[in-house]
Amino acid sequence: PPLSHLHPMRALFKIPRIRIEACQKSLHHLKCCFILFASIRCLVKDYECRPHACELLKDRMVARVKGQEPQLAHSAGRTSGPSPETITNELQRRFSDQLIYTYVGDILIAFNPFRLLPIYSTEHSARYHGAWRKINSPHIFAIANAAYQTLLSQHSHQCITVSGESGSGKTESTHWLVQQLTALGKAENHELPEKILQVNPLLEAFGNASTTINNNSSRFGKFLDLKFTSTGTVVGAQISAYLLEKSRVTRQALGERNFHVFYYMYAGLALQKKLLQFKLPSTYLRDWESTIQEQFRNFQMYEYVQPVSDGVSNPWTTAAALLQLRPGDLTEALTSRCVIARGETIVRPNSLQRATDVRDAMAKAMYDRLFCWIIWRVNSLLQPLGNRAVRNGMNTNFHVSILDIFGFENFRKNSFEQLCINITNEQLQFHFNQHVFTLEQIEYTKEGLSTRPIEFENNQPLLDLLLSRPLGLLSLLDEESRFPQATGGTLVDKFEDNLKSKYFWRPKRMDLSFGIHHFAGKVLYDAMDFLEKNRDTLASEVLLLLSASKSPFLAQLFSQPFTTPVLVGQPHFVRCVRPNNACRPDCFDREKVRVQLRYAGVLETAKIRSQGHSHRIPFAKFIHRYYVLAFPANDQPLASSDSVRAVLEHVGLQDWLIGQTKVFLKYNHVERLDRMLLVM
Ligand code: ATP
Ligand code: MG
Repeated sequence: PPLSHLHPMRALFKIPRIRIEACQKSLHHLKCCFILFASIRCLVKDYECRPHACELLKDRMVARVKGQEPQLAHSAGRTSGPSPETITNELQRRFSDQLIYTYVGDILIAFNPFRLLPIYSTEHSARYHGAWRKINSPHIFAIANAAYQTLLSQHSHQCITVSGESGSGKTESTHWLVQQLTALGKAENHELPEKILQVNPLLEAFGNASTTINNNSSRFGKFLDLKFTSTGTVVGAQISAYLLEKSRVTRQALGERNFHVFYYMYAGLALQKKLLQFKLPSTYLRDWESTIQEQFRNFQMYEYVQPVSDGVSNPWTTAAALLQLRPGDLTEALTSRCVIARGETIVRPNSLQRATDVRDAMAKAMYDRLFCWIIWRVNSLLQPLGNRAVRNGMNTNFHVSILDIFGFENFRKNSFEQLCINITNEQLQFHFNQHVFTLEQIEYTKEGLSTRPIEFENNQPLLDLLLSRPLGLLSLLDEESRFPQATGGTLVDKFEDNLKSKYFWRPKRMDLSFGIHHFAGKVLYDAMDFLEKNRDTLASEVLLLLSASKSPFLAQLFSQPFTTPVLVGQPHFVRCVRPNNACRPDCFDREKVRVQLRYAGVLETAKIRSQGHSHRIPFAKFIHRYYVLAFPANDQPLASSDSVRAVLEHVGLQDWLIGQTKVFLKYNHVERLDRMLLVM
């Protein structure tokens, strides 16, 4: 594929989505489903343990869920804003009381409690259904409710962005958001909400893995789009996944694991293992090395590479049979390549290293495409009510989207994947800054209102360093990837020669490492495999071979187009915070928290949200919805600033602003106006 497809950070707002027109049944398709179901069964087993664990914990825990909670931004002074010390103290006090959620304006700070808290029951969920935010303690359910209510009242797309470093609780938060949103949008006798919730374990089996930071770390980005009718019934969902860390299939860093599903399969598929002659190179399953015999001595070091049989079975024939390929073709594609020299095509044997690389690239590509296929299947299962709704003439064009991506990562060794992940987080931070700080300021100015500039850590210069063309880090990487002779060393030299910025440094000349000062901290990258990973080429011989497989399923996996959805909607933000590195429930590492609060812009957010107006509604939209609060129902007041003022004064709200075309309201204003409509 062209290199431009390969940069996931460019895909944050352009998430690739698989579209397969038809799904044909085949032996492999069935085998694939078989594996899926078997893995689901393993998962179900795992899940069955949960209530028990939950009960045990419940016994030990005293529920200390309190009533009304103060707002950080409100409890502190309005003009100067709270100090970092005040905020950290307050959050620590709340954390020790097991109060993990706190509002900063309309942004939710969510601490990972590293223990099951009894705050997610159906009773808790019901408490937040359509409830005015002030009457309940801060909760992730309230954010879901706010998005849902705004969807209904303003008929605009809603997008909830969940961010935070790895292990801070994004995926868990997303789970609760989906649970609450589907509960809110549930119609009687609908299976869909359950179906949507059941997808998680499946996707996590294939897309999550144990890392040194988080033993259930998401190794892909997830964009979940929930579709509602205009009356708020959930009718469908669509998932887009991007940037699956496929390199994990063949190689894992020390102390890390492959994707969960391999272990589930290995543990649970005794019969199927036999059926599928299931064998993996031991390097693919790091923690199983001691238990699996060395089974993959396929390659031997001769002048060129030749497959050998271990006398019991021939892995080549087995692999070829499972992939419905001719064994000879598979051998040829892995052990040789075609090169064009002086106009002639010559077949060259691969070295052991090259053959191993081709094998790994093939395994990674197959896993990646299988993952995309699963998402496509899941999506088709989550659509049927949408189609029925359309047939019945219902408008289903109301969306609440939730974005859950892997968090910022800083390991002992950081490679290309960490760079991609961290740049994606950098983009997300920019999106957050744009909405919370920049757009609000621009909007004030545009509407002729005076503003006091808010200072925040703008990461725009850093994004320029990474993404600008032609001299940003990624462009340089693309350029270097086009030279067959380039090495990690020439790449870092190129970076050093071109990237003149305080955010970039190279510790030692001749060394393959370079550093980037990200918004969330300094990270040292090892450029060793950057070129190879960025090229991400699947040998054309292998691609041709797989797309010509007799298995329609496999052939189909290798012939699919991608589309690119875009992030839209009124944003809602959940900022997850990891209280300590040790995953301990009772430890609040002040320094660690302070750093996260700083890069999450919590202080600045507290300041701007206590002064700021997060809802900017055009006069016409405001009057259309709220005029009845001040005018007779059969009146048709003009969509003017005077009419808007009349409504706001009539209902006794304060602290709003009126611009040239829009009214600027605080989040609690909208809530109060909607309450008043309800009680009319
Ligand atoms: P990554 O970026 O690596 O995917 P993440 O931010 O998605 O990380 P999670 O996987 O959601 O992190 O959380 C890590 C672990 O912390 C979970 O597996 C769970 O054990 C615990 N955890 C997170 N949030 C909660 C919660 N609200 N209640 C109980 N446990 C939680
Ligand atoms: Mg996650």
